[in-house]
Amino acid sequence: MKNVEEFKKQLENEKRELEKTLGSIGHKTKVGGKEDWVPSYPDLNPMQSDKSEMADEVEEFENRIGIEGKLEERLDDIHAALKRIEDGTYGICEEGGEQIEPERLRANPAARTCIQHA
Ligand SMILES: [Zn+2]
Repeated sequence: MKNVEEFKKQLENEKRELEKTLGSIGHKTKVGGKEDWVPSYPDLNPMQSDKSEMADEVEEFENRIGIEGKLEERLDDIHAALKRIEDGTYGICEEGGEQIEPERLRANPAARTCIQHA
């Protein structure tokens, strides 16, 4: 696989961005030695906690859970791709074992499968 360094750089940049965003809505913990992100409960205005304020916080927390889940899923894909680069199996389709199209990797460097098996 050529240009692995180029994809590695892209993956590492995206990883940094994701961790920054995750860090703004939650915090990282370790569960059984494995990293896990948990959304933080928002404290929008602790000085005047009336009912509508509470409702806003609950809504914001639910938003965070949804966003956090998606970002963490993406982060897992990126970790897996970086691991494949280390193992020398990057760019190989997980389904059929063929080379993943370079255009596909350029569009999504964390792709696990080729276009046919997408
Ligand atoms: Zn395939």
